[in-house]
Amino acid sequence: MSNIVAIVGRPNVGKSTLFNRLLERREAIVDSTAGVTRDRHYGKSDWNGVDFTVIDTGGYDVGTEDIFEEEIRKQVQLAIDEATSIIFMVNVEEGLTDTDHEIYNLLRKANKPLYLVVNKVDSAKEELPATEFYQLGIEKYYTLSSATGSGTGDLLDDVVNDFPTTDYKDPFEGLPKITIAGRPNVGKSTLTNALLDVERNIVTDIAGTTRDSIQTLYNKFGHEFVLVDTAGMRKKNKVSEDLEFYSVMRSIRSIEFSDVVIIMVDATLGWESQDMNIFGLAQKNRKGIVIVVNKWDLVEKDTNTTRDFEAAIKSKIGQFTDIPILFVSALTKQRILKAVEVAMEVYNDRAKKIKTSKLNEVMLPVFEALPPPAIKGKYVKIKYCVQLPTPSPQFVFFCNLPQYVKEPYKRFTENQLRKHFGFTGVPIEVYFRQK
Ligand code: GDP
Ligand code: GDP
Repeated sequence: MSNIVAIVGRPNVGKSTLFNRLLERREAIVDSTAGVTRDRHYGKSDWNGVDFTVIDTGGYDVGTEDIFEEEIRKQVQLAIDEATSIIFMVNVEEGLTDTDHEIYNLLRKANKPLYLVVNKVDSAKEELPATEFYQLGIEKYYTLSSATGSGTGDLLDDVVNDFPTTDYKDPFEGLPKITIAGRPNVGKSTLTNALLDVERNIVTDIAGTTRDSIQTLYNKFGHEFVLVDTAGMRKKNKVSEDLEFYSVMRSIRSIEFSDVVIIMVDATLGWESQDMNIFGLAQKNRKGIVIVVNKWDLVEKDTNTTRDFEAAIKSKIGQFTDIPILFVSALTKQRILKAVEVAMEVYNDRAKKIKTSKLNEVMLPVFEALPPPAIKGKYVKIKYCVQLPTPSPQFVFFCNLPQYVKEPYKRFTENQLRKHFGFTGVPIEVYFRQK
């Protein structure tokens, strides 16, 4: 389930500081669309074992007063449209301002859990001035210091606790869930329609809750699977950077609902930063990944075109390059069957469980032949390994000195698992633990 927490408030109240704290070591996905004067940030966090997505809606230019008002309105609207819960941040140093009142006037109309957070309460002496904000009449009131983190625990306890419980019963439980993610206009709907074989109008503007998801059952080419999509593109009138952002928000939700993500890229544009964001999201959520380069009919080809295109993508996606890349045309339906087949293979690989006996039989000799490098004369001995019963492959390697197993050796281990057991398109986690 994807719960989204938005942080709104005037500039300089401390939104980004709280945002960064919530993400801690998790890497923020920065929406760096060219020409956008403000950055929007979103990323994954968790509290008490509950995952959620955080949006920092701020970070805009405070230009003239007019622009400022307009930006605030947009920011609040974004939170109202997209978030499960809204953190409304104010600043004790500056006290209650007219703009705070205006923001609250917009927020109060939204029927979403609202948390008033008085920030920069770094010590007990700010607690009393903070009570000024009681007059807003917001029931859920917290004081905190984003800078030190004090107070964030109480806030998050309540935010997470108030997340709507899911009485949602998955009608397609146990069937492979696939989503087609990608930038606007890459051809997602064209592929969806090509698979259906009938023209289907994409539903627009289904009432804005964070759990809208359209699941369509397909029985095609001998495969049964479910295509997951979130509510149609909202707010068609939004300026392009907002469209871009909304489409990424959609992707976040669809990805969380799915087992396999087909990342669709426009062959005429190549791999861009938004594609990288979607890739990062899929990888972090440990979903299976297939990259589909669409509109291949528009590309002038010679013998090396495919190879070069593939190499260009692989050079940009980082370490995890064991991913199928297909070249299709949703318009002419060229190779769309292949795309479905490969997605199903990735689905099966992701669900694959390697027997403990087989895993040890294969991996222990690998470690013996090439053990982790000794550090300060100490040798790491890997004794035993198991695959965890998780939805995506995770392996634990028990050894005497796990702290001496460094990143390169973890990558080596991952590559060996891929080599021997085949997990194409599937993110793998590798843990070394004390035995
Ligand atoms: P945003 O514009 O709302 O995103 O605000 P920022 O997170 O950029 O913070 C604005 C300024 O307030 C920065 O100089 C922060 O270091 C400072 N700040 C943020 N949180 C705290 C806090 O809890 N206490 C204090 N004293 N300063 C803070
Ligand atoms: P979406 O926004 O990702 O759903 O993209 P659409 O499916 O609406 O496609 C955007 C445009 O690209 C439409 O005009 C499609 O006809 C066109 N298009 C989609 N797939 C292909 C393709 O494989 N080849 C060509 N030439 N055009 C395509």
